[in-house]
Amino acid sequence: MVMNVEPGSNLITRVDTGGKKVVALTFDDGPDIFYTPRILDVLREHQVKATFFVVGENVEANPELLRQMVREGHQVENHTHTHPELVKKGGSRIDEEIYRCEKAVESLTGRKTQYFRPPKRLFNDDVVDIAAVRGYTTVLWTVGVENRTTRVPQEMARRVSHRVVPGAIILAHDGRLDRSKTVEALPLLIKGCQQQGYRLVTLDELLSEGRR
Ligand SMILES: [Zn+2]
Repeated sequence: MVMNVEPGSNLITRVDTGGKKVVALTFDDGPDIFYTPRILDVLREHQVKATFFVVGENVEANPELLRQMVREGHQVENHTHTHPELVKKGGSRIDEEIYRCEKAVESLTGRKTQYFRPPKRLFNDDVVDIAAVRGYTTVLWTVGVENRTTRVPQEMARRVSHRVVPGAIILAHDGRLDRSKTVEALPLLIKGCQQQGYRLVTLDELLSEGRR
């Protein structure tokens, strides 16, 4: 499978779909008692399946929301157990963060997570290698929904619609900070992508569209 990867690492920022207009919508930092149900409602209304990079301690606090994600056809992946800045941690702590999140998810769903996203995009070769030894591919993103310059939901949605490309991985958040603007932007963003002919899929489905 050919992907956009940085040389010598298990790192994905975008998938080469050969121009096929599929993109993956991903959410970090949940499950959150307030924002995740709202995001799940929007996804259900628009019949879109997404991928949630969850934080293990939030999974333990909100197990029913994790079960709901899986029940509604979404993919769940690994965003560490406590959301630390991994570049400041030693190897055993990095490994423990990935492992504890994996176990929190597996105990509820019976499925092992396979993809890993480092908190705050802070990583180095050690982080990627430790994840790889555990069997993980590190997944970043192509375009982010939340950003410093655009805080109006309509503009957040428009910005993503303009920047989206075939095989893009879209990053949004369903926890940790106030995500009310993300919730408002989401239906507009989905429509904006669909109007350009894009299909929004899970990470697994996007990767399966990767050129071989
Ligand atoms: Zn995060």
